[in-house]
Amino acid sequence: MQHESPPRAWVDVDLEAIAHNLDIARQALPDTQLMPVVKAGAYGHGLEPVARRLDNDGIAFFGVANAGEARRLSQAGIRTKPFILGPSFPEEREEIVLNNWCCSVSTLEEALHFQSLASLYDKTFLVHLAVDTGMGREGVLPAELNELAHALKQMPNLVVDGVMSHFPCADEDVPYTQDEIARFSDYVAELQQHFRLRYRHIAASAGELGYEIPVANLARPGLMLYGVAPMASIYDGVLRPTLKLSSRVSLIRTLPAGHGVSYGRTHITSRPTRVATIGIGYADGWSRRLSGKGAELYINGHYCPMLGRVTMDQIMADVTDVPFISPGDEVELIGPHIPVTKVAALADTIVWEIFTGLGPRLPRLYH
Ligand SMILES: *Cc1c(COP(=O)(O)O)cnc(C)c1O
Repeated sequence: MQHESPPRAWVDVDLEAIAHNLDIARQALPDTQLMPVVKAGAYGHGLEPVARRLDNDGIAFFGVANAGEARRLSQAGIRTKPFILGPSFPEEREEIVLNNWCCSVSTLEEALHFQSLASLYDKTFLVHLAVDTGMGREGVLPAELNELAHALKQMPNLVVDGVMSHFPCADEDVPYTQDEIARFSDYVAELQQHFRLRYRHIAASAGELGYEIPVANLARPGLMLYGVAPMASIYDGVLRPTLKLSSRVSLIRTLPAGHGVSYGRTHITSRPTRVATIGIGYADGWSRRLSGKGAELYINGHYCPMLGRVTMDQIMADVTDVPFISPGDEVELIGPHIPVTKVAALADTIVWEIFTGLGPRLPRLYH
C-alpha cells in the first residue's frame, strides 16, 4: 500500500481567532456594515473554511479578488454575496452578471458592457461606482465624474448601489488620508444627487482602525481579521493571532568549525556546530529573503538561529544549545513565539506578502 509522505511543514489555522477578530472590527465601528476580505485564499488561511466560519446574516459581503474566488464561494454554498474587489476581464463579466455577484465599475466601457449583459438576460445588475481619491489603481477621476454619472443614469439595467474608494497610505500619511476622506465625502455628496448609494466604503483595516469616516457605512477589513493591526494601535494586544507555521527536523548532524552551510557558503561555522536540517523552504513561502538576516526558529523551547541561505525545500538551524532534540521534532517558524510581523520585517516585506506567500504544498489544519 502506498502512503503519502507525512507533511514536512503545515499551517494550523485558528478559525475562532478569525471570528474573534471580526468581532473586534464590529466593535470598532458599531454602526458600520462589514465586508470581511477573504481574497487570496483568505490571506493564505484557506478561502472556503474561513468564509464558512464567518458566513452569516451580519455581514454585507465577502471581499474577493476575482470571479474565480466568487465562484469558489458560491460552489462552497456560502450565502453572503461576494464583492469582487478588482476589475474583471471582459470574458468574466457574463458569469458575474448571471450570478448577481457585486463589483465596482470605473469606466464607461465597463458600465456599457455590464448594461448590455444585464439587458441580454433581462436582469437588474447592481454595481458600486469606484472613485479614485488617490490610489491610482481604479476608479473615476473628479473631472470625469459628471459625465459618467449621467451616462450611468441612462442605463436601464444597471443600478448604482454604492460608491467605493481605497486609501493608498492610511498607515503612513495621516494628513493625506484626512484630505482624502474629505474628497471622498465630496464625491458621495455629488453622486447622491443621482443615486441612492446604499453602500459607501473606503476603509480597509488601517482606515477602519485609524480614522473617523462619517460618510462611510461599510468597511472592508482584511489584515486585522488575520490578527495583525496594520499600524501600532490600541488593537495590537486585542487582535488574536490566527495562524501557526510549523515544520519538523529531518536530520541532525555535527559539523566541524570552518564548515560551510547551504548554497553560496554564506555561513561558515565558527565552532563545532550541531546543525538541524528542517523540512521547509522557499517553495513553501519561507522567503529566501530571510537568508542571512538573523531569523530564528523555535525548537523544543529554544530560539535557534537559522543558518545560511533558505533552499527550495529545506533550511538549516544551529541547535547546539538545544539539549534534547531528535529528528521528527516540531519547529515553530511563525506562531506564539515568533510573530509574523517579525518575519515580515526580517524579509524586508509586509505581513500581507508573508501570509499570501504560504504555498499550496502546506496543508492547512483547522481548529
Ligand atoms: C485587500 C483590500 C482590502 C483589505 O485590506 P487590508 O489592509 O488587508 O485590511 C480592502 N479593500 C480593498 C479594495 C482591497 O484590495
